[in-house]
Amino acid sequence: MFNALVLEQKEGKTIAAVQQLEFSDLPDEDVLVEITYSSLNYKDGLTVTGTLGLVDSFPMVPGIDLAGVVKESRNDQFQPGDPVILTGWGVGERHWGGFSQYARLKPEWLVKMPQGMDAQKAMAIGTAGLTSMLSVMALEEGGITPDKGTILVTGAAGGVGSIAVSILNHLGYKVAAVTGRESTHDYLRALGADELLSREEMEKPSNPMESPRWAGAIDTVGSTMLARVLAETEYRGVVTTCGLVGGLDIPTTVMPFILRNVRLQGIDSVMCPIEVRTEAWNRLLTDLPESTFGEITNVIGLSEVPKTAHDILAGKVRGRTLVDPNR
Ligand code: NAP
Repeated sequence: MFNALVLEQKEGKTIAAVQQLEFSDLPDEDVLVEITYSSLNYKDGLTVTGTLGLVDSFPMVPGIDLAGVVKESRNDQFQPGDPVILTGWGVGERHWGGFSQYARLKPEWLVKMPQGMDAQKAMAIGTAGLTSMLSVMALEEGGITPDKGTILVTGAAGGVGSIAVSILNHLGYKVAAVTGRESTHDYLRALGADELLSREEMEKPSNPMESPRWAGAIDTVGSTMLARVLAETEYRGVVTTCGLVGGLDIPTTVMPFILRNVRLQGIDSVMCPIEVRTEAWNRLLTDLPESTFGEITNVIGLSEVPKTAHDILAGKVRGRTLVDPNR
């Protein structure tokens, strides 16, 4: 028997509770992993609270991230004792996920733990940090080097934002951070933000083009904030979009694209090919400073996940939340 957070539907509502499961309850996949840590992402907030109907098959074990050790394997690529990481692939949404002491998984979803990384660090990074790294790599692919100017990060005190600020600062970029919480200013400065902007200022509707301020931007918010970011981006600048905490729309025009040659690059970590993921995880080893982990990380147990899921949707969580399934 082992513990897992299980989602069930009762009278149209999603109910989340810690339950004891048998190994025979797990899906029949080739690799059994004993989970050391999982982590709570914005998407877990959506699944655990039943928001947006992301889960359509119940019972479901949520948790889109996990790191642990292989216990049993029917696949040649993985042996018992191998440390592994999983993020995305619909795990925790369509397949049983990481808020559990054990998971059975497809081998093609697993990344071997890079040398120098451990489960705790890997989950302090998690889907959020992988997405931050993919976003920074997209800026680089667009030719945005530190000498080009300031990079704006929105939703800066959240998981994706915090790690993006830290990586960019480490790589020598000047960073401007947008936050809705003044209480996070010291935290964001400690991570490497050079300039702080208020959410209120940045989510005001903008003209199609405003004075250019940003060489590039990593946006996690969407809607009027993303429209303003695009309007304020310099000639040949690159803006990445990965999130929707402010809304799904982008009330913009073609002007920044056709007059300033601005590039809007989508970022998806869920179905990201394994070779790009592996590159991003290796880059995280070198480009995310060790000091960041202490700053950004909180740890909770399985029973605290339902409350923290509501908190993350309300924008009350700072940095990254590790989930220890053995606590
Ligand atoms: P998070 O930890 O909850 O961070 C989001 C941050 O956005 C909050 O901490 C808050 O920061 C700010 N915020 C919250 N509500 C807001 C609102 N109504 N308007 C403007 N800003 C608001 O979430 P996360 O894990 O970083 O994820 C951020 C977004 O990226 C989510 O939409 C998530 O689904 C998405 N995401 C996508 C991918 C992908 O593969 N595409 C991967 C990971 C995450 P401040 O207090 O500093 O303002």
